[in-house]
Amino acid sequence: MTFADKKNIKLRLRLLNEQRLTRIRKLIERGLIESEKDVPEHAIPVDLDSSSLADLILPPAYYEDIEYDCVECGTHETWRAETQQYYFEVLKASPYSQAVRCPNCQATRKRSIQQNQQNKP
Ligand SMILES: [Zn+2]
Repeated sequence: MTFADKKNIKLRLRLLNEQRLTRIRKLIERGLIESEKDVPEHAIPVDLDSSSLADLILPPAYYEDIEYDCVECGTHETWRAETQQYYFEVLKASPYSQAVRCPNCQATRKRSIQQNQQNKP
């Protein structure tokens, strides 16, 4: 690893940490948590400015991995905190959305929906 690489990683980590603290400050202002300690190390604090979860009367303070069983095939899966963040902050999904299908069944379902649309006159 070069010196420049190390410097970049340090910079990225610092930015991530600043982002995390900014999010935590907003959560404290809104009264959802009392201090930084209320957000576990492994969790991602919710960004109240960009997350669709902020529309809820009582939004969760952070994303953390959620385990679930696929409704189609029963596979035990994890809905990762990072995926939830993408879902609610980038895709602005409904705050009531939940993962119910495993990635395989999601893909199968998507394909069959697409095929149905193509078959329409
Ligand atoms: Zn499945």
